[in-house]
Parts: sequence; structure tokens; C-alpha cells
Amino acid sequence: MHQSDHAPLAQLQGAGKRYGTVVALDGVDLDLHRGQVLALLGANGAGKTTAISLLLGLLQPDAGQARLFGRSPQDLAARQGIGVMLQAGAIADTLAVGELLDLTRSYYPAPRSMADCVAIAGLDGLLKRRYGKLSGGQQRRVQFALAICGAPRMLFLDEPTTGLDIEARQGLWRGLRDLVAEGTSVLLTTHYLEEAEALADRVVVLADGRVVASGSLDEVRARVDQRRIRCTSTVDAEEVARWPRVRAVHRDGGRLEVVADVAEEIVRRLLAADPALSGLDVSRAGLAEAFLEITRDTSLKEAA
Ligand code: ATP
Repeated sequence: MHQSDHAPLAQLQGAGKRYGTVVALDGVDLDLHRGQVLALLGANGAGKTTAISLLLGLLQPDAGQARLFGRSPQDLAARQGIGVMLQAGAIADTLAVGELLDLTRSYYPAPRSMADCVAIAGLDGLLKRRYGKLSGGQQRRVQFALAICGAPRMLFLDEPTTGLDIEARQGLWRGLRDLVAEGTSVLLTTHYLEEAEALADRVVVLADGRVVASGSLDEVRARVDQRRIRCTSTVDAEEVARWPRVRAVHRDGGRLEVVADVAEEIVRRLLAADPALSGLDVSRAGLAEAFLEITRDTSLKEAA
């Protein structure tokens, strides 16, 4: 396929998509370049699956455009260069895993060997089993194998590790890293910050159908690096909410939960305000809070 080395492999330009009155995507720009792993992050309903569906030609944008290898996503040559793992795939569940792999490999000009697929996706002992009889996690690994079996230059993975246990998740990450080292480019969606951290070079955060943050992992992490502090305390939640660098405070009975930009300073103040404080627990704030925060920042800026 003729394409300049600098042109994006996959691109959304000003892409918009509505479902009736629901605006799923609103002016989204997104580029995936050769050799990159791009993570598309966002809360439920942010528009991640819609963005992928536009790039795959499964949906048409109402505004802007989607390109694959500089072509229409419907173009057959473009489609043969990609592998896809969607959340809800229509996979014939009466076929054996080996049959599914053979069938999918036959769509590609130069597919991977069966042995490679088994090794990369961790399918030992599963080839003769019927897809429909596998566990959810095993089905996920088969879906991954179907995405990579054509040796595509670019992979689209929609929440690839949802439903996998920790070992299977890390196995999939290892497989993906090997493919990336071979030169495969990847666009993946995920709810898990640690998944983006383990794999991605670049991150795009979607909220309500818009890009609210994008850049290198470090750039985006700096905006979502908040701490969640939990304790049992009688300290006044409204007072805590007025402290600098506190983002959110929630009281549930005797338990207090504080989301803040830093942990130490807030913990010191809490202990000073309530020496009887107990059950202290500090963790990284979830992505959900971070997304809310980023979205709130955006809407405040827009309102200003
Ligand atoms: P999740 O993390 O839950 O998979 P997502 O980021 O992939 O979410 P999308 O599935 O792209 O989000 O959905 C974006 C918005 O469009 C949501 O408000 C969703 O309810 C809506 N939506 C998606 N598909 C349809 C559809 N077929 N008909 C109507 N509304 C839809």
C-alpha cells in the first residue's frame, strides 16, 4: 500500500456522530502513527467504541471524516491491514477455536502460523474446543488471537482485557508488547489507567464525545494524578472541602473520603484537625474521578 511514512495510519478529523438526540462524538481529532500504541481512555459512554466504529467503517460519521491508511475505512486493501477485537463480536459459537482461526486467517494475504497465534494469545489446549463452551476469559483470548492472526500492521482493541484475570491480562500485555516490538501499531480503548501505563505511548481522553486531554502518558498522567484518602473521622467535611488542593469530599456515616492533588499535606491537616482519626487509607484516585475532574475543568474553561 502506498502511503507516506509520516501520514497517520488511522485518523479522525473533526469527527461527529449522533444517535438520534445523543451526541456520541463531537468534533474529535485523533491520529495513530506508525509504531505507536495509542490508548483511548474514557468513562462509560464517553464515545470510545463509537470512535473505533468510525475508524473501522462500521459507522459513518455525520461530520468530519475517518481514514485508514489514508483511505476510506471501507476500502478492502485498508481492511486487510487491520486486526480487530471488539467488545461484542459476532463470533460463530458452534465452531471450534482452530476452525475460527483458520477461517479468519484465510481473509488475510500473509497470515501468522497457527503455532504463533497459539503462543501469542495463550491458546494452548483450546484449539479443539467449541468457542461457545469456553469461559469468558478464554473467549477473550480467542478474540485476541483472531485480531492478530492475519499479521496486521495495525490493531484495534476495544477494552481487550475486560473480564480477564490478572495473569491473563499480563499475558495479553506481553503478547501485545512483542507485536509492537515487531512494528505493529495499536489503538486500544480501556478503563484501566494501569493498562495505558503498561502499553501506551500516547493517550487520548474522551468525555462526553469530546477530547478533553491528549498527549504523552506523562502529560496526561500529570492531570489525573490524584490521591484518594479515606479515614474514620468526625472532621467537618464542608471545612475539608475548602482546603487548598482538595478536589472532592464525601462523607458516608463515620467514613470520610477526600480526593486531593496530594496526599501528605491533606493527611497532616486531617490529623491535626482530628487526633482521634483512624482507619487511614491512601490510594490513587480512580480514573473515573480523574475524568470527572478533567471534564469539569474543561466545562469551567468553556463557561469562563
Ligand atoms: P463504554 O466504556 O461503556 O463502552 P464508550 O466510551 O465506548 O462506552 P460509546 O459506546 O461510544 O461509549 O457510546 C457513546 C454514547 O453514544 C453513549 O451515550 C451511548 O449511550 C450512545 N450510544 C452508543 N451506541 C448507541 C446506539 N446504537 N444507539 C443509541 N445510542 C448509542
